[in-house]
Amino acid sequence: MPLPLLILVTRPVLGPIGGTDADADGDAGAHDRAGPGFVRADAAHPQVSVLDLGVTRGDGVFETVMVSAGHAPAIDAHLQRFGASAALLDLPEPDAAVWRAAFDALVDAAAKDFPDAPVLAVKLVLTRGIEGTDRPTGWLTARPAPDFRAVRERGVRVVTLDRGYRHDVAATSPWLLQGAKTLSYALNAAAVREAARRGADDVIFISSDGFVLEAPTASVLVREGDRILTPTPELGILPGTTQRRAFTFFAEQGLQTGTVRMRASELARADALWLVSSVRQAVPVIDLDGSPRSVDAELTAGLNRYLAT
Ligand code: PLP
Repeated sequence: MPLPLLILVTRPVLGPIGGTDADADGDAGAHDRAGPGFVRADAAHPQVSVLDLGVTRGDGVFETVMVSAGHAPAIDAHLQRFGASAALLDLPEPDAAVWRAAFDALVDAAAKDFPDAPVLAVKLVLTRGIEGTDRPTGWLTARPAPDFRAVRERGVRVVTLDRGYRHDVAATSPWLLQGAKTLSYALNAAAVREAARRGADDVIFISSDGFVLEAPTASVLVREGDRILTPTPELGILPGTTQRRAFTFFAEQGLQTGTVRMRASELARADALWLVSSVRQAVPVIDLDGSPRSVDAELTAGLNRYLAT
């Protein structure tokens, strides 16, 4: 895999925390106000401190953005969610103009460095910074995206797994940070490993009281007749940028769309199921908890064509 291109964001947040303070050594340092607020760096060299709270505690937020033929159709939604995730963690507000300019610069550079990559995955990361400094750390990487064309056609086998929380934790226990895209994805990765142990490829999380939530790195879409449904973000799940774009596509196809609370038992009755996310896009669920599921290959292909542009 080629090394990603890297940009360090030297002015990642608005306000005095991201302001003019000099470093201990007197340099304007990582948060100087002059200049564009970001700088190219070499991903082959260490760039983040071992004392950074993003490293030691997973205390930070991120976004993964798909760039197709130099175009990022959901960048505004990603930047908006980046800010919302930061707010849920009581981080200072990301400077959207700086992140946007850094993103554009990185995409331009990647077009030159990866001329044969039709799709890029660009990751934006904001951490709470080095312990005791109150200075968030920010960076972006860009790398060629894996080729997901085969899995979009083949589909995935999915198991349902208990998320261990009730459906209403976002309201009752906001410190659980449900709905924020935090750096702490160890449990998401563990769930996918559990799926593999059970002979499946992916997971749909179910709340402890039986409601459909989301996949570890994707939103769930359900077709019931002429309706396409997705679990409501009120259930403490990530509001998916791809789900939102998919709903625009389905509405253009004359289908109804809606966000709902859905019981896990309703999945078995659904006419079709998909997992949707930015870079992998829409993959049909071909098997749920060991039961084969029917797939609308034409609709899936149409959805993926729409999502790619
Ligand atoms: N839910 C979770 C937990 C995710 O991690 C992701 C993406 O990584 C999604 C949903 C889908 O979000 P998006 O469509 O914006 O990629």
